[in-house]
Amino acid sequence: MPRPRSFFFSLLISNLLLIATILGLGSWWTFREMDRQANWNSRRFQGQLLSLAKDGLEDNWRDAAKIIEQYCRSYASRPEFRLTVIDAEGNVLGDSDHAAEKMEAHNNENHPELLEALQGTTLKDTFAESTRLSRTKRIRYRYLASPIRHENAVVGAVRVAVPVSDLTEDRRRLSSGISTGFWLMLLSAAFFVTILIWLWSKPLKAISSATRQIAEGNLDPMPDVGGSSEMLELFDAVDSMRQTVSRQLETITWQRERLQSVLKHLPDAVFALDSEDRIVYYNGAAEHLFGLEAFSISLSIQYLLRLPEILDFYFSRRESSSREPVREQTMIEIRQNGARKMIEWELVDIAHRRQDEDIACLLIARDQTDVIQTERMKADFVANTSHELRTPLTSIRMTIDNALDGIYPVSAYGEVFEMLDRNIHRLEALTDDLLALHDVEDGTGTPIREKTTLMEQKTWIDETFCRKADEMRIGFRVVLPENLSEVAASCFFVDTKRLELVLQNLIDNALKFTPADGKVELRLSLLDENMLSVECEDTGCGISPENQSRVFERFYRVKQRKTERQRGTGLGLSIVKHAVERLGGSISLSSQVGVGSLFIVRVPV
Ligand code: ADP
Repeated sequence: MPRPRSFFFSLLISNLLLIATILGLGSWWTFREMDRQANWNSRRFQGQLLSLAKDGLEDNWRDAAKIIEQYCRSYASRPEFRLTVIDAEGNVLGDSDHAAEKMEAHNNENHPELLEALQGTTLKDTFAESTRLSRTKRIRYRYLASPIRHENAVVGAVRVAVPVSDLTEDRRRLSSGISTGFWLMLLSAAFFVTILIWLWSKPLKAISSATRQIAEGNLDPMPDVGGSSEMLELFDAVDSMRQTVSRQLETITWQRERLQSVLKHLPDAVFALDSEDRIVYYNGAAEHLFGLEAFSISLSIQYLLRLPEILDFYFSRRESSSREPVREQTMIEIRQNGARKMIEWELVDIAHRRQDEDIACLLIARDQTDVIQTERMKADFVANTSHELRTPLTSIRMTIDNALDGIYPVSAYGEVFEMLDRNIHRLEALTDDLLALHDVEDGTGTPIREKTTLMEQKTWIDETFCRKADEMRIGFRVVLPENLSEVAASCFFVDTKRLELVLQNLIDNALKFTPADGKVELRLSLLDENMLSVECEDTGCGISPENQSRVFERFYRVKQRKTERQRGTGLGLSIVKHAVERLGGSISLSSQVGVGSLFIVRVPV
């Protein structure tokens, strides 16, 4: 489309055309009227001259020759007029510009004005007129002729001629004067019109540029424009439109920010998509869950979430034929950095099937891995606990039933009571472990930090485990740092109950899984005076790498033939792990099957 001419130029050109037309018409009319007037004036003057001559001749016709000579002489001094007098036969009696005797008779059709005058048909005050080329002078003349009457008879005719070239010259001068006037007027009108239109269009231009800026998104206050009251009204209207747009934009921005901040703080990953399936926003949880890096917003969902199941879910639900906005859910398992995650996906269609929507739907992802795992662990825990309780209980029930049925001879009672004692012991151990696990897992109680020293801890361990280790023929020793006097004696604060739980379970396991003649060493030290280090090393059966990550689970026991003394509840290391966590520390394990195991615990004190 051709670019439309600017308002300034359109107005200028149309105004100039209008002015030129008016001036042209005015000039033409003026020229026509002035020309007519000049013609009329010159003709009247010529007529007056003719009347004077005619009257003079008629009054003095008897002395005609003298008068004619006198007239011709006076006319000869005025080259712009020519006087000719003829008698009734057409013979030239006198001519101001030419010798009369050399001139031919003038009563023929070559001189129609004289012919007409001689016929005497011209009324008083009117003249015979003709404009033609003079045969004697070879220039064009306008001739006026009048009869000379004497005693009621036409005795001749007198003629006054004016060269037409003089009239044309006058006309040319008049025309050039008027056209100069026309151009001068047009130029000055153009000049003033240009200035006027520029002054008019200036505020309009300012308003149009301000409107363009609003359209481009610049909503700064508009600079003042002067001009007429209509311009000021227009300016006010545009300015109030700007203010309204600015306010609405502020509201939209504020609402958008609020929405984004709400989405940002949601624990669920949220993706906002437009009606073209482009992701226009995603929150921090989404970034974290899917390890997304900064990307250019408005990328299609296919480029960002390259998971076929999710794309299938998204597109199948988006294209659903339902008339109502949809809200769909599904659970999809994804692998991330080698770990499996169970993600619950929800599609909330908030602008169903509407085109050009900024935010058409929300795709929400909830990481349910922990929830599902916790539920599974809870179910396992109940099943395992029931199983662990049922085994000794069944054994006790059977023993008592058999005793009541008198199956056991009295001599076997000692053995029966021993079996009952073992099972009850097992139930007690299990209950103790369950209580201890509950205590460390619960974590609601405030830790009771007590003052202790490394030496105190060593004494307690020696008292508790040395005899047992001797009985099992295991070389057991507690090692403190060499500069004992300085460091080991220095006191520290720690939740001693939980620390004892950790030490007890670790040493119990070490003794349990180390054969006779093996060694168990417990090294206690303080790192940087505020970090307690416990290293429990044994030369026992060791734990295979695949089991190392699982031994801390509740009720998990490595499957192998176990002797009676190795049988446990499967809760020991789970208690250790949770107790260490409650103490704010960490635990690590390194082990080799057939060589031994080393548990390292670090606890801030
Ligand atoms: P349990 O009551 O069976 O000892 P734990 O949770 O304490 O339960 O230990 C879980 C499993 O880890 C044990 O069954 C055992 O197979 C293995 N384990 C624990 N400590 C040691 C160790 N020091 N040496 C070898 N195996 C160990």
